[in-house]
Amino acid sequence: LSNRKFHPKSSVIKVGNTTIGGDEFVIMSGPCAVENEEQVIETARSIQASGAQILRGGAYKPRTSPYSFQGLEEEGLKIMRKAGDETGLSIVCEVTSLEAIESASKYVDMLQIGARNMQNFYLLKEAGKTGLPILLKRGLSATIDEWLNASEYIMAEGNPNVVLCERGIRTFETATRNTLDISAVPVIKEKSHLPIIVDPSHATGIRKYVAPLSKSAVAAGADGLMIETHPNPAIALSDGPQSLTLPEFDRLCKELKPYIELT
Ligand code: PEP
Ligand code: MN
Repeated sequence: LSNRKFHPKSSVIKVGNTTIGGDEFVIMSGPCAVENEEQVIETARSIQASGAQILRGGAYKPRTSPYSFQGLEEEGLKIMRKAGDETGLSIVCEVTSLEAIESASKYVDMLQIGARNMQNFYLLKEAGKTGLPILLKRGLSATIDEWLNASEYIMAEGNPNVVLCERGIRTFETATRNTLDISAVPVIKEKSHLPIIVDPSHATGIRKYVAPLSKSAVAAGADGLMIETHPNPAIALSDGPQSLTLPEFDRLCKELKPYIELT
């Protein structure tokens, strides 16, 4: 279902009042984790003014350590919905369980399946059944073929609304958190009609590398970007070191604008 051979035309996926794929470039941004209403609303207003169309924010956080902040759950989803309604931005939140899918379906415009759950086939099927657009992140050690097979699990439920997200893979390199596989962009474009966006934040784990890799994603032909931002990364409850400040995000959008077409 994801194969371009049987579907030569590139897919355009509707997400809330925006679309992903086709000629337009989409920018998603927001905090790693929803922490409180002020943080999310301030971020939403700022990224919208900078040119973003979709607000991201985790209410269920699949943290590496069980002792790290795990997310506000339904309260976080409500905050995201409010920020979406106030700004007109579409919203995307990660789901990590069946209960999270059930709750999130009431609030979000798009469900995110995180890298750690890319091969959680039960979760993929249940997410597929909602009919909502799904942002499917590449697994930490997944081949492109395994990733596309994961998209099939969603699409086989009758849900064609899948967007792929390259977020870096685990290699022997330790200078960055993961290694951004920029070649995944043209490879996916050849093999599949599904849109692909790039997440340079999780790919590098380091703020100063986010802008150069965002530019590389545009150059490689990605359909969009997902960039973590925070009003004050120093006090972020998760992924502060890779989060851009709001002015840094604004500067990056201005640098990208001559090269992309935004809705
Ligand atoms: C995230 O987007 O906050 C996240 C946890 O990403 P990933 O699943 O790519 O690690
Ligand atoms: Mn994160």
